Amino acid sequence: MKILVINAGSSSLKYQLIDMQNENVLAKGIVDRIAIENSFITIETEKSKYKLEFDCPNHTVAIQQVLNLLTDKQHGCIDTMQEVGAVGHRVVHGGNDFNTSVKIDKNVIKLIEANAELAPLHNPPNVAGIEACNKAIPHAPAVAVFDTSFHSTMPEQAYLYGLPYDVYTDYKIRKYGFHGTSHQFVSSEARRIWGDENLKLIVCHLGNGASLSAVLNDKCIDTSMGFTPLAGLVMGTRSGDIDSAILEYLSKKTGMSLTQCIEYLNKKSGVLGISGVSSDFRNLGEAANNGNKRAKIALDVFSYRVKHYIGAYTAILNGLDMIAFTAGIGENAVFVREMICKNLEYLGLELDTFKNSNCPRGQIAEINKSSSKVKIFVIPTNEELVIARETLKHCK
Ligand code: ADP
Repeated sequence: MKILVINAGSSSLKYQLIDMQNENVLAKGIVDRIAIENSFITIETEKSKYKLEFDCPNHTVAIQQVLNLLTDKQHGCIDTMQEVGAVGHRVVHGGNDFNTSVKIDKNVIKLIEANAELAPLHNPPNVAGIEACNKAIPHAPAVAVFDTSFHSTMPEQAYLYGLPYDVYTDYKIRKYGFHGTSHQFVSSEARRIWGDENLKLIVCHLGNGASLSAVLNDKCIDTSMGFTPLAGLVMGTRSGDIDSAILEYLSKKTGMSLTQCIEYLNKKSGVLGISGVSSDFRNLGEAANNGNKRAKIALDVFSYRVKHYIGAYTAILNGLDMIAFTAGIGENAVFVREMICKNLEYLGLELDTFKNSNCPRGQIAEINKSSSKVKIFVIPTNEELVIARETLKHCK
């Protein structure tokens, strides 16, 4: 079966068509600048790469264009839309309603819409993507795969905040966690490598958005993002954990409204805000090497916070067998992995700096010394594949 994976954001829509017989990606691309001028679509197949500018006022037109290109004689890879056997949709927030992926029907759409109050920037475009696909290829069953569901196994003591219990029951204020499909994929790869279900694992998903999870025997028991993806690690542009009283103080000092303060914490903070250089770790590394002190301190703050969570999660797991690095920074930034693993010998982590600097791009690599008690791995993530696999489960 061929499964179309859709990751719909407010102004862009990423897609992949995956042949589930061998899990090969037949085509992938993006529709960008939806409802903005100069919209375009890209498609990449084994045969070609192609970009087309077109007028794209909404998600329905975007999906139509994806299907047009997938079936295009010159640039596509299938003959008719009937070849799309099912569609897997990434949905950011499942709230308390979904602890696993689910076949989409009217009721599911209603619940995803209801959870939009928890993810106002993400769930509405996710629903737009679902509705556009349902309209364009009604024959193909659709499945929703949630960023939050892998974390639904967290115990109450991990997900409750120190707030009156009523705000949890009345307003659903609790830790949810995000990047679940990535944590799930990396955990299952780690368990395959480990060869045994009993595994105390920390997954470090370090991308523009970044989060850690503590995984015990394949189940998430804690994660660093919270009620929203703003919590936890210091990220590219997001602050991560801060003292919540800062918000009122910042608002008084700057005259920003609460909404503006949150935007400031989401978009102008993190390593970008600290360094004043960039949110991109390539630029930060270069600037730090050239003597830029604020770039250096931004990298220090970033790795210090990761280390902080590694310590916390080792305690929560009551030990540690493996750490897995993934996503843009985790897979590629050699110097960041080195900064994080430095001085963690007490916990049994010994990084092999040669292996760390020479691990092949896009492949699984073991980067610990042979004497290291804890394994350290780089495991490239594949969120689309998780979505496709989850979708297939509902089609059998
Ligand atoms: P997201 O999916 O959250 O947007 P990614 O997982 O794609 O993020 O990670 C993007 C980040 O990865 C970039 O901002 C950059 O900081 C980092 N990155 C990518 N390649 C490299 C590299 N070769 N060296 C250092 N950092 C890198």
